[in-house]
Amino acid sequence: MNEREIIEHIASLGRLESNSDLVKGIGDDCAVVRRDDQRAWLLTLDTLIESVHFDCSFHPAYKLGRKVVSVNVSDIGAMGGTPLFALLSVGMPPDFDQEWFCQFSSGITDACYEYGVLLIGGDTVKSPQGLNFSLTLIGEARLDEVIYRSTAQLGDTVWVSGPLGWAAAGLELLQQGKGELGGELEPLFEKHRNPRARVSFGASLGRSGLIHAMMDLSDGLATDLAHLCKASGVGAVFDAELLPGKSLLCQATQHIKKDPVDWAIRGGEDFELLFTASSESESQLLAMAQEFDLRATPVGRITQDLGVRMRRRAANGRLVEEPVSYTGFDHFQEPGKRDGK
Ligand SMILES: [Mg+2]
Repeated sequence: MNEREIIEHIASLGRLESNSDLVKGIGDDCAVVRRDDQRAWLLTLDTLIESVHFDCSFHPAYKLGRKVVSVNVSDIGAMGGTPLFALLSVGMPPDFDQEWFCQFSSGITDACYEYGVLLIGGDTVKSPQGLNFSLTLIGEARLDEVIYRSTAQLGDTVWVSGPLGWAAAGLELLQQGKGELGGELEPLFEKHRNPRARVSFGASLGRSGLIHAMMDLSDGLATDLAHLCKASGVGAVFDAELLPGKSLLCQATQHIKKDPVDWAIRGGEDFELLFTASSESESQLLAMAQEFDLRATPVGRITQDLGVRMRRRAANGRLVEEPVSYTGFDHFQEPGKRDGK
């Protein structure tokens, strides 16, 4: 089973009692629960495990604390919501480094403060091996302003809120012991160690009424756009030339031999927003992104043909389309055994 099949299996068991206050259960960035006639609670949880999500040898404790918060806040922003409360679960070996933990905690509390989140509880447990952290976040939005991934419309423009592939490239450079390169490549390292959630922009998009579907990019454009398309019953085509942030990826390829487009569409942990909107909204969306110092970029469009395709120029100069659905990051999929559907 891959990651998607595991989630589909749990959802298919159907043992969830129906509840008239549940608006959206499994299958989006957050669960949505009716709070009153006008408002909704947004609920989400994310876990970071040592050796899977982070390596303490090149991830400073303070930035890791910040990241635990940001990756969760990102899911609230992806539904157009505002984060409010957090519950933190900490699993650490009995011989944990207290100085390390103090810095990590400062990262957690500083990030909570900056995103306007109140840490209201949690759990602390002994871990037999390695560190692991889970954060549950509770946010809110107006019921009619929640943006789902399942409502993209035919002909919509597909947007991303910022550069793609930077975190994956930064991680790969760090794993290969090239962290001292710094300088111009520092934004790649920072994107892996300390990503910023686009939550204010997401809430603003929700309020704007301009966009049709949205989610955040955690597993790479190839997989996340496929999720959005499948949920919406549509397909999409995007243009490799239009993917933002490629010049810095090209610089990274001077140190690691790799196709920069691979990082951009298959690398995880971008934590940028992926959203769709009518082409008529383009100038308004560009202006809105500018208010948040973001360079939102239209990269493709929603199509009737199912699946996700990437258009790029082949070596002979001709434009070709290749299927790329679900070829991004998956915790349970062996590399090289992607289904490509
Ligand atoms: Mg998400």
